[in-house]
Amino acid sequence: MKIKANEISALIKEQIKNYKHKVDNSDVGTIVSVGDGIAIIYGLEKAMLGELLAFPHDVYGLVMNLEIDHVGAVLLGDDTLIKEGDIVKRTGSVMEVPVGEKMFGRVVDALGQPIDGLGPIEYTSKRPIEVVAPGVITRESVNSPLETGIKAIDAITPIGKGQRELIIGDRQTGKTAIAIDTIINQKGKDVICVYVAIGQKNSTVAQIVDKLKTHKAMDYTIVVAANASEPAPLLYVAPYAGCAIAEHFMSLGKDVLIVYDDLSKHAVSYRSLSLLLKRFPGREAYPGDVFYLHSRLLERACKLSKEYGGGSITALPIVETQSGDISAYIPTNVISITDGQIFLMADLFNAGQRPAIDSGLSVSRVGGAAQYKAMKQVASSLKIDLASYMEMKSFTQFGSDLDASTLKIIRHGDALLEVLKQTQYNPYTFTHEVFDLFVAKHGFLDKLETSTIKDTLTKLYEYATDNYSHLFKQLENEKQISKELEDAFKKCIENFFEIYQQEN
Ligand code: ATP
Ligand code: MG
Repeated sequence: MKIKANEISALIKEQIKNYKHKVDNSDVGTIVSVGDGIAIIYGLEKAMLGELLAFPHDVYGLVMNLEIDHVGAVLLGDDTLIKEGDIVKRTGSVMEVPVGEKMFGRVVDALGQPIDGLGPIEYTSKRPIEVVAPGVITRESVNSPLETGIKAIDAITPIGKGQRELIIGDRQTGKTAIAIDTIINQKGKDVICVYVAIGQKNSTVAQIVDKLKTHKAMDYTIVVAANASEPAPLLYVAPYAGCAIAEHFMSLGKDVLIVYDDLSKHAVSYRSLSLLLKRFPGREAYPGDVFYLHSRLLERACKLSKEYGGGSITALPIVETQSGDISAYIPTNVISITDGQIFLMADLFNAGQRPAIDSGLSVSRVGGAAQYKAMKQVASSLKIDLASYMEMKSFTQFGSDLDASTLKIIRHGDALLEVLKQTQYNPYTFTHEVFDLFVAKHGFLDKLETSTIKDTLTKLYEYATDNYSHLFKQLENEKQISKELEDAFKKCIENFFEIYQQEN
């Protein structure tokens, strides 16, 4: 059967006349270019900043740039299958991560999907990864301590629930160690922990998870990992996703501790995204909004007031410095956002002073309000004593003769530093910390040989807990050292040294 030409044109004309389905430029777009995890899309006129876009092959993307005639998006999956000319659709929703109690003990990626090979996770609900931080009205000032179990931190730079305390230092100075010890110390304290690993090696994260498991800390911990091998968009999203997971528990009135390890790598991933999106490079080639990148994240840590459930998020962001330079761009930004910093010095670390906390540069601006009275009593003079010790120490390097008062300061400082040394995975209880600092403060260790201080202290604590356990109970209950308790502790310590001297 033959079809005549005029019949065909009539047919087409008819079809065009009845064509109702117009292509809507506002919800659909076409890929103009794609590569390096970035797609430039024509169309999508109604796209919103931060909106999720659906690409072919089940790949999703995030709108990062809204330009006059195109949209810039980052791809959250494999971009090798995406081609120029592909159709992209709006989803109308922002990015969300699944959250819930079933995540305890699990390792998930930046999208909340399990990567630990333990099977799927049953989620109860989802939360948007980017939300506006709780307002002033809903908040309460920091008022209860978050014990790290690390003597130097609980004494010098105490952290309160809802605080943001930066851990900053060169590479391999024990930054992660502090965060992990703090997580381990939350056992039995009803604090939920979220550890966000950004741009680390798979093996490092595996080791950390292993350590947390060994110390039974995974029972209340969720690990969110966007490792170095993953595309930059996932590294960029990871801390926000971790924060959303933490917020879920905060909204239920729980206390949460979140560690961002580390935000330097996060800033670097954001810089590479921004440069690929052709945003203008600013200082150190970071885009202009790199401050906002971290401020909007860290502002979400807070202590909610009773009417709003009373939950809290305590944030421990980690930043890496280059040869101790805390005046670089990202370190100064994050220092100004947080409520204090724990500065770790490579020199101290190498000299064996671990944790290598520089007591001069480390501060905690709000944690003092949350510190127990007993800790305040034993730690009040610590910072000043250490400062005068450091000052004197630099003089004595010239080897001149020392007068008695200088020698006293130096011996006391040596003893204090020795007391503040602490091995990894060995968090102290509150009473143990207070006792050790009490012994040091009252100069009981000053006359000892520095190398014997550690052993003596261990023996002394053993002796005291064996024979004077009621004093520790009293300290635990009252959280302060009354005159009577002080005298009793002194008596206990004197008794120990009498026996000790007879033995040696
Ligand atoms: P990176 O920059 O690679 O992330 P980091 O600053 O996080 O390093 P860690 O990985 O925590 O440092 O620690 C570096 C090394 O120091 C590790 O081998 C760790 O076991 C050791 N270390 C950390 N803290 C202590 C400590 N208090 N006592 C003894 N060793 C420690
Ligand atoms: Mg580390």
